[in-house]
This record gives sequence, structure tokens and C-alpha cells, in this order.
Amino acid sequence: MRELVIVGGGAAGLMAALYAAREGAKVQLLERNEKLGKKIYITGKGRCNLTNTAEPQQFMGNIPRNPRFLYSALNLLDNRGTMELFTRLGLLLKEERGGRVFPASDRASDVTRTLERACKGSGVEVHLNTRVERLLLEGGGVRGIVTGDGRELPADAVIVATGGLSYPSTGSTGDGYRLAEQAGLGVTPTRPSLVGIDTLESWPGALSGLTLKNVRLTAARGKKLLYNEQGELLLTHYGISGPLVLSLSALLPDDCEGQALQLDLKPALDEKTLDERLLRELAALGRKQLASAMDRLMPHSLGLALLELAGLSPTLPAHGVTRECRRELVRRIKGVTLTVRGLRGYEEAVVTRGGVDVRGINPSTMGSKAVAGLYFAGEVLDVDALTGGFNLQIAFSTGALAGKSAVQYVTRDHGGG
Ligand SMILES: Cc1cc2nc3c(=O)[nH]c(=O)nc-3n(C[C@H](O)[C@H](O)[C@H](O)COP(=O)(O)OP(=O)(O)OC[C@H]3O[C@@H](n4cnc5c(N)ncnc54)[C@H](O)[C@@H]3O)c2cc1C
Repeated sequence: MRELVIVGGGAAGLMAALYAAREGAKVQLLERNEKLGKKIYITGKGRCNLTNTAEPQQFMGNIPRNPRFLYSALNLLDNRGTMELFTRLGLLLKEERGGRVFPASDRASDVTRTLERACKGSGVEVHLNTRVERLLLEGGGVRGIVTGDGRELPADAVIVATGGLSYPSTGSTGDGYRLAEQAGLGVTPTRPSLVGIDTLESWPGALSGLTLKNVRLTAARGKKLLYNEQGELLLTHYGISGPLVLSLSALLPDDCEGQALQLDLKPALDEKTLDERLLRELAALGRKQLASAMDRLMPHSLGLALLELAGLSPTLPAHGVTRECRRELVRRIKGVTLTVRGLRGYEEAVVTRGGVDVRGINPSTMGSKAVAGLYFAGEVLDVDALTGGFNLQIAFSTGALAGKSAVQYVTRDHGGG
């Protein structure tokens, strides 16, 4: 029987192992941690949003980089296929808002356990606490791997599923990029994605912990609209985070420092309607303070911050607010400017943008075009998506295809299994 080694026991590695083992290969899954799927445990806030029910076109729309590279992988195992597979393996699923799919138990650990059990049931040999240091290469092909403690393990094919650089505490520290470079493959520059944003302005820090619901966040560069979405935003000690900001971070260009962002705190009201509303509130308040009028529109602390930005005293009597002051306030409420100082780091990023250059990988197999028997799957590749279950689906789909293709390679090129 021919040997297939999979490096990394995360979502991609586990799915690759399962597909390969079911095709009859002898599979060794090497994981540097003391347990498999450490990152899966923390996905979806511990509930694991494992895929999304979006229709194909909408699904692709959530993958900003290299979506077409994924056609074959999704053709083999798409979101529906993944849901069927998990259900067949005994994991009940449920769908929530926005097509997000979770285990019915709300426990991410059940996803890992299901995959682990299926792998072991199919004969996958798991080696924990085993970090792969480098590849054994010979004559234009891969011949095995070398572990951190110097042990050589021969293999007819190797699948690198080591993840990216995000949340390094889960084991993803960029080893896969080094393995790719050792084999002569290109790696595109990486950066954190789906991550909070440091702002030049300090006022969000003073309001840290405040969640703003139904606000609109916009970013434009010249005439090009980079982002324009409505949703939830979180003010933090460093700037801004929350669903709107995570998605924005995936779409900002690399040179995003200094990028202006516009925050509309009342997107449902146009300026005229908001002005009339403010006028009514002020008239009703009479001698009371301007801050009380703001209280009727937004959380108290945010109202105070906006008044400060507008250069208005919160103790100003409501009846003394001039038309100009009102207009200025309306302008601020409809468009607070925030400036990007930078993105937060990999420690806080949900995914890594960039990675193994897909131009060097055959999209129909996930195999290296230059090195025979070498395959890549999951976040290590230069493919990343927005939030909603798309990143795990990419890991599952590319893992499945790499697993299946690697087995075909070893049985075809090495004369049977
Ligand atoms: C906080 C958080 C929440 C998330 N929530 C979601 C979500 O709900 N839905 C979603 O779709 N995506 C989510 N993601 C993203 C998703 O988890 C990843 O995109 C996905 O897990 C990538 O899978 P992977 O197998 O490619 O990499 P990983 O899950 O990172 O697995 C790689 C594995 O390889 C091992 N490894 C690394 N180097 C070596 C080596 N040299 N030798 C041996 N083993 C090695 C690592 O220890 C690790 O176990 C979340 C990410 C984070 C950080």
C-alpha cells in the first residue's frame, strides 16, 4: 500500500484524510498539537459556523480572492455536499440567519469529533505532537517529510494543510509557506484579514464596548466604492471591530493606512428627515440640555462624543441651539469620519489573506504544477472569504479534492495501492 502523508490536522487536513482513506490509501495525518482541530473549537464563537447555504453565485461573491480557483473543489464537495456528509456521519445541523450552518448541538467540538471519528474509522493513522519541519524532495517529486525531531517519513504524496498565520496559538504559524518555498513555489504576501481596525481617532476608545446596531459603514477611494454596508459595529479600545468592520478589513487594499471611513449612525433617515426630527426633539425639550435631545437618538456616551466632535456643549439649552448648530449635528450623525491607522494583528485575525500562489497549483487537483505528489489545501492557499461559514467550506472543499487527487496520483504513478 502506498503512503500518503497529510501535514496539519485542521479542517482541511481532516477532510483530506477522510477522502483519501475512503479511496483506499494508507494515510498518516501529522499534527503538531496535542489534539486535532484546535482552531475548529474556537470557530463561530465555539459553535462552528461550518458552511453557508448560499446559492453558487452568491457563495462565490463572498470570496474576494481567487474564487474561480475553487470551481473544481466545490464541484467535488460544495456546501450542500458538506451538509449531507456531516449529516450522514451523524452530526445534526441547523441553519441560522444569513444561511449560516451550525451543528444543532451548538458545539464546535462535535464537528471535530465527527471528523476525527470518521477518519479513524476509515483507517487514518493520527500522529499528534508531530511537527513537520521540511519536505524530502527528489527528482522533481516529493519523497516524504522530515519532522522537527529529525525523523524521516517516506511518502508517495504529501498534502500540506497547515493553515495560515491567524490565531497562531492554535498551531498555524506559517509553516506551510516555508514548505511551499522549500519546494520552489511562490507565496503571495500575507496580511491579517477579517480583523479589527486601529483608528487614528481616539474617541472610539473612550466608548469601548459599545455596539452600534444598524449603522452604515462606507469606504471609497477616489470614485471607487470599496465598501458600503449596513449592520453592526463595535467600538473598541483601539478603534472599531464587529461584523461590518471584519468584512471591510477583507476588502481594503494593502496600502490602507490613512484610508477614510464614513460612519452613518442613522442610515434610515435622510438629512432632511433627521433635521426635522432633531428640531422636534429640541422644541419639546425647551430649557433642558442639548444632551437630552441626543439621548433620544442614540446611546448617551455616543451622543456626548458627537457633541464634542461638533464643538457643541452638552449643557447648551435645547431652545438655544441655532439652525447652523443643528445642521452641523445632522452632518456628524450622517457621516462621522474615521481614519484607518492599520489593521489589528494575526493574533486577532479570523483568517490570513495571501499565501501559496494559486498560479503554481493545478485547480483540478490542488497539486503543485512543478513538484509531483505535492498538494495544498485550506487556508495555506491564497484564497480567503468573508464571514458566514465560507472559510471552513473552502478548507473542506480543497481538502476533499487534495485527498482524492493525491490518492489517484499514488495509485496511477506508483502502480496501484
Ligand atoms: C476565532 C476564529 C473563528 C472562526 N470562525 C469561523 C467560522 O465560524 N466559520 C468559518 O467558516 N471559518 C471560521 N474561521 C476560519 C477557519 O477556522 C479557518 O479558515 C479554517 O480553520 C482553516 O482550516 P485549515 O485546516 O486550512 O487550517 P487550520 O485550521 O489552521 O489547521 C491547520 C493545522 O495544521 C497544524 N500545523 C501547522 N503547521 C504544522 C506543521 N509544521 N506540522 C504539523 N502540523 C502543523 C496546526 O496545528 C493546525 O492544527 C475562524 C477562525 C478564527 C481564528
